[in-house]
Formats: sequence, C-alpha cells, structure tokens
Amino acid sequence: MDSLFSYSNRDASDDAPGQRPATALEALRTVFGYDSFRGQQADIIDHVVRGGDALVLMPTGGGKSLCYQIPALVRDGVTVVVSPLIALMRDQVTALRELGVRAAFLNSSLGPAEAREVERAMVQGEIDLVYVAPERLVTPRFLDLLDRTRLALFALDEAHCVSQWGHDFRPEYLQLSILHERHPMVPRIALTATADVQTRAEIKDKLGLTDARVFLSSFDRPNITYRVVPKKSERQQMLAFLRENHPEDAGIVYCMSRNKVEDVAAWLNQQGREALPYHAGLPADVREANQDRFIKSEGLVMVATVAFGMGIDKPNVRFVCHLDPPKSLEAYYQETGRAGRDGLPANAWMAYGMADVVMLRQMLEQSEAGDSHRRVERGKLEALLGFCETPDCRRQVLLNYFNETLPEPCGNCDTCLDPVETWDGTVAAQKALSAVYRTGQRYGAGHLIDVLVGNATEKVVQQQHDRLKTFGVGTDLTKVEWQSVYRQLVATGLLTVDLEGYGGFRLTDAGVSVIKGQRVVKLRKDPVLERRRGVHDALRRHTARGGSAGGGSSGEGVSRSGARGALSAADDALWHALKDCRTALAKAQSVPPYVIFHDSTLLEMVAQRPRDHTAFAHLPGVGGRKLERYADAFLEVIRQHG
Ligand code: ADP
Ligand code: ZN
Repeated sequence: MDSLFSYSNRDASDDAPGQRPATALEALRTVFGYDSFRGQQADIIDHVVRGGDALVLMPTGGGKSLCYQIPALVRDGVTVVVSPLIALMRDQVTALRELGVRAAFLNSSLGPAEAREVERAMVQGEIDLVYVAPERLVTPRFLDLLDRTRLALFALDEAHCVSQWGHDFRPEYLQLSILHERHPMVPRIALTATADVQTRAEIKDKLGLTDARVFLSSFDRPNITYRVVPKKSERQQMLAFLRENHPEDAGIVYCMSRNKVEDVAAWLNQQGREALPYHAGLPADVREANQDRFIKSEGLVMVATVAFGMGIDKPNVRFVCHLDPPKSLEAYYQETGRAGRDGLPANAWMAYGMADVVMLRQMLEQSEAGDSHRRVERGKLEALLGFCETPDCRRQVLLNYFNETLPEPCGNCDTCLDPVETWDGTVAAQKALSAVYRTGQRYGAGHLIDVLVGNATEKVVQQQHDRLKTFGVGTDLTKVEWQSVYRQLVATGLLTVDLEGYGGFRLTDAGVSVIKGQRVVKLRKDPVLERRRGVHDALRRHTARGGSAGGGSSGEGVSRSGARGALSAADDALWHALKDCRTALAKAQSVPPYVIFHDSTLLEMVAQRPRDHTAFAHLPGVGGRKLERYADAFLEVIRQHG
C-alpha cells in the first residue's frame, strides 16, 4: 500500500485548491471524460450537491459511483464513502487516482503511519474522497476525526448490507445512523443494486433515511443476453459456447460444490482455456491471489462457488455461466449481473436439466424450515423453475419477479432470439404420469421412459413392468423428448420427488387431475440446435457501426452498415494492439487494465481512429488526466496501424 498512498500524496500536493470543478457537468467532462449523464444521474447529483439526502436504487453497471463521486468533487470538504470490502475500496481508489482525483482509503490493510497520513490529509482538506470500512467508522477515534474534518457528504455504498435477511449482512451497517446524529447538516446518499423490495424498505428504515428522496431506476440489464439451455453434456456445451462467443474474454462459471469447481477449472485448463478455481474451502491467500489475477488479466475464466463475486468491480466480465442452478431468481439476477458492467454486450448462460430440477425439489422437501418460511422458499423455487422453463421472454419473467413490467418481449434472450414452440402435451403428460402411478410411484425418469418406449430392460422385466398397460405406449416420442416431458412435469409441480427411497417421482394432486383429464398441459419444445450468435459478434457490430459516440469521424476503414459480421483484419489487429498497450501500461503500475481505459474506450479508438490529442480527447472515458498520461502511447499504436 506504500506506493498507493505516496501516489495519493503526490496528487494531493499537485492539485491546486482552485481546481474544484464549478459544475457537475464540468466534472463529468473534464475528470471522467464522459459527455452526458445517464438515466437519473443528473437529478441525483443535483439533489445531493444541493445538500439533499438520497436513496439510489440502480442496477449494477447503472453508474452509481458517479452519483457520489461527482458531488464529492463539486462540494467543499471531504466525502466519506462507507464501503464493505477492502478489495472494492482499493479498486475504486486506484481508478479515481488514475483520473487525478484526490482519493484514499482507511482500512485494516494500512499500517498505522499510513493511516495517520490519511487522517491528517482529511483534516487538512487535502483529499476529496475517503473510503472507510464500516467497523472503523464507528470507532471513537474515527468519530473524533470526523468532528475535526470539514465534511461534504456521507456515501453509504452497498447499502443492502444493512439488511439482516440479505446475503451480505454487515452488523456494523446498523450503527451508521450515528453519522447523521452527529452531523445532521451533512447530506447522505445510500446506494444499492438490490432488486428485492423488502430489502429496500429495510434500508430506508435501518439507515434512518425515511425523508430521503428515493431514485428508483429500472433494474433491466439490456446488454445481457439471457440463455438457458437443456443440459446434455454440460462441460462440452459450455466449452462450445465459450469457443464460439468468448474465445478471449474474461468470465465467471458458477458451480454448486467446491469439488466441482476444482474439477471444472482443471478440465478447462486441459482444454486449453485458462481457468482458476475460487471457493470458500481454499486458503485465504490462494483465494486472494486468484481473485487478483482475474481482476488484472484479460481472458481468464473464474470457476467459482457463490463465495465469489461480491465486490468484483471488473467492468469487462463478458459472460457468467451457471453449470448448476442458482438458489433463487434473486441470486441468479445478482450473479449474472456481474457480467457487462461496462454496458457492452454480455452473456448469461445456464445449463439446466432433469437432475437439477430433481435436486431443487428434493432440497425443498428436505428443508427443515417452518411452514411459513417453507411457503416462501417454495415460491422462490417455483419462480426459478418457471424462469428456466418459460417459452416466453426470459427478461419479462425476470423483471416481473421484481415487480417491474417490460411491455414488449426483449429481443435479447434465447426465447426471443430463437422462439420456443409449445405443444399440447396433455396426452403425453397423461402417459408419463400414469407410468409413474402404475409402477408404484417409486421410480425416476430413466426407468419410466424405458417403460413408456417399450424397452424391456432387465429391470423392466424383473419388475414385470412389461406387462403394464403403459408399456410401450410412448413410442411416439424419443427418449430425449420424454426426458423433457418429465423435467417439465417436475418443474411445474405435477410430479414431486420422493425423499425416502431413491428420488422416485410421486403424483401431486395437480398431477392426478391431469390423469383424470381435468387439466390441460402446455409444454415447451426444447430447442435442438444452439444458434451460433453471440457477444463476439455484437462487439464486432458495435465497432462496425462506428461505435456509439456518433462523432461522425468513423474512419474510412469502418463499414457503415451494421450488417458486416466480422471485424476487418485491420480492425482486429488494431484492437489487439491497443489491448496489449493497455496491458503493458497496467502492468507497469500494477493496476487492472480497465483502470487505464475500459474496453468501450478502446473500441471507440478502433472505430474512430483518432489522429491527435483533440480527437483523442473526444473519446468517451478520456478525461484531462488520462489524455495527458496516455494519449501519446495509444496514438502511436493507432498510427502504426495506419
Ligand atoms: P455501478 O456502481 O452502478 O455498478 P459504475 O459506477 O461502476 O456502476 O458504472 C458502470 C459503468 O458505466 C462504468 O464503466 C462507468 O465508467 C460508466 N458510466 C457511468 N456513468 C456514465 C456516463 N454518464 N457516461 C458514460 N459512462 C458512464
Ligand atoms: Zn426476451
């Protein structure tokens, strides 16, 4: 941390006090290098700059950080940012310093001398933002420090950590109301990406923000393409998907168990794809080292349990794969939400099959929870299964779960891109269900399908199931199709899973009513082919369009029609050369590459091919400091690629 802090000191003395930007827009343009505010940013910032309290509910990648970073630059005094994770603080501070912002953090990773130096700088007003861990914030020493510091703003990041029912509960967050009690005139802004309605109410209450203005954004993540594929051989399916769409991108693969994490990571490496494992069973130093490599390198796959993810700020995670189903739709939204923070196209890909459905149902049956809790769990499970099985737009189902309505199908999920056919499966369901009934409600799909298609296996003969009326009545469907039928029957609750015995199926009341002909069953036809279409293409289309800046100067080498499928060889070469340049600069300073420039900025370089500082300054993400430090290096690369 030595170098980090001396760096901040240097910045502090470099900056004359008169450099505070006069307006929020000026700060956005000169410091961050962006043209205009997004969504509600302008309103939020305006409200906070004027001294109002705010509760900001915005999805990951929505641009929450600017909502307090810009007021921190515009308002007089020091902004105190409460942040729950050391890694998160470090990354944010590194990125801010790259922009020339006077920022520092205070947490247990600092030695006493370094901490004292930060404290001194706060009192002297030599920094604009200080990131603090919640446990430190409420210590007498820190409270005393705050009394001696001129304060601009309190920013409470990851505010859902105050929720006792959430996954990230941090007891220290409950004490944060002390800030307002001691400094009632200092405005507060609390921010979270939680989509959960109950948690939102809790935040307001527990942080004492009942009078704060609430800024609620849509929680849609339009740049994420959602896909759920029927599981056949999950590893091969995933590998094919990665080779097709993400040959050189970074991403996360979620698995349920630690063993599976290790197996899949090792297997990916054998397949020539660099991957690292991450789970709570690994020693802390290994976990930290793996996380650090993931953040700092370009094309790495992190294979992980859900222990990995909170506080991962890497903006160019291009895919999140699930080899096992998530715990709930909340978890799914959160885990997949780690993809595409930079707004560029990203993929959420899940493989899901019969065994997963059976396991989820079993878990629910096994749950020791009391009745009302169980009803909640059941609701969550049904929602998750409903999402996996829907023939309709996945995004509509997902947002609907969070009480948000998307009026039209999204056009960017598998069911929109490759519409799923449905069929009247009532008769098939009756056959499948009566096979369950006539075999004594003890068997799983494998044996039942043998009976249906008339496959006289040893087990079938031994149990005399070849003499049943249902034996051979199902030759109209293939084994794979019957698998799909059974999966959907379990998913939709017409069958449940027996816990005694070996996970055999049992009829539910709803299932019985199907056999009696009182109920129609609509089934989805699982897609046979996975379409070849993906993010890589989308990135290329982005470049081929001349990017998003609309700067007009989209160079000659760039096709104007979005139809061109691939990056030209010249563009591709430039894109890689720019990435190499970024990697070299990042390595030299030991910071993550995206701290130098985001992918979107590099893509604009490819699209616009700026020739001089003036043109370079117009690229999104190029503020004053970055222009000064990096323009020459990148302009040289562009020049070499003529
Ligand atoms: P969040 O904290 O809400 O997940 P971030 O603050 O990390 O989101 O912002 C997500 C991405 O959007 C970052 O790459 C950020 O630089 C970019 N961004 C934020 N605001 C703007 C804006 N007004 N114009 C362009 N890019 C922006
Ligand atoms: Zn859709």
